[in-house]
Amino acid sequence: MACGEEHDHCCGNHDHQKDGGCCGGHDHEHDGGCCGGHDDGCCCGGGCCGADDRDQIAMFVVGPIETNCYAYVSQGECLVVDPGNSGQAIAEHLPPDVTVRYIVATHGHGDHVGGVKALREATGAKYAISALDAELAKHAGEKSELGRSYDDNAPDPDLTLAEGDVLKVGTAEFRVLEAPGHTPGGIVLLGSGSAEHVCFVGDTLFKGSCGRTDLAGGSQETMQKTLARLKRDIPAHTNVFCGHGDPTTMEDELAQNPYLR
Ligand SMILES: [Zn+2]
Ligand SMILES: [Zn+2]
Repeated sequence: MACGEEHDHCCGNHDHQKDGGCCGGHDHEHDGGCCGGHDDGCCCGGGCCGADDRDQIAMFVVGPIETNCYAYVSQGECLVVDPGNSGQAIAEHLPPDVTVRYIVATHGHGDHVGGVKALREATGAKYAISALDAELAKHAGEKSELGRSYDDNAPDPDLTLAEGDVLKVGTAEFRVLEAPGHTPGGIVLLGSGSAEHVCFVGDTLFKGSCGRTDLAGGSQETMQKTLARLKRDIPAHTNVFCGHGDPTTMEDELAQNPYLR
């Protein structure tokens, strides 16, 4: 089952975080919980998903089309990526001693930002998105071109993100790579410091696939340029956390993803 609606199987809950476990840990796989249950060992063991041993990543699968929301925790500080729905529930599942610094949207589609308002109100974190997608995000609570709506329209961003911007939480740093194609303001967050080997790619890249380009503001030509750029700039050893579906690694995608050929 998708854990976003019920949350009791979700790998973002307190016990797993205290465990040092995270998305894809063995217990979750046995649970039939979320996180894809990958057998490649990407997330299992003391360190999580390639992050520094002290850092943790939790994944929440939220909303009607199972959007992956990630919480990256380092030194008591947290960055949440793509709270697509259920912002209040996400806040409640974060450890109480963690300060959420940033809520980052990889792009403005409703399924990635419908929970921003509630999560921001619950945590006081700064909401960040590309200026190019900020307006789109403000309609998350209204029916999209696909006929779906999410909890709330996103608020005005507290900061807008562009190429080269760096967000720091604890000892982790995330650099913004502009990644248009799925939407005009899509971004990728590439980790360094204690988040080296971690990358959040939103709906730009999926395991074996890439994001659709037929929605408003999408462009196949632009997507091809973005994918070529990611192929150059994301190191092969990087663990790639996608907006939907299983995590993967850049190495696996370079070998198997037809869109990176
Ligand atoms: Zn999208
Ligand atoms: Zn999506």
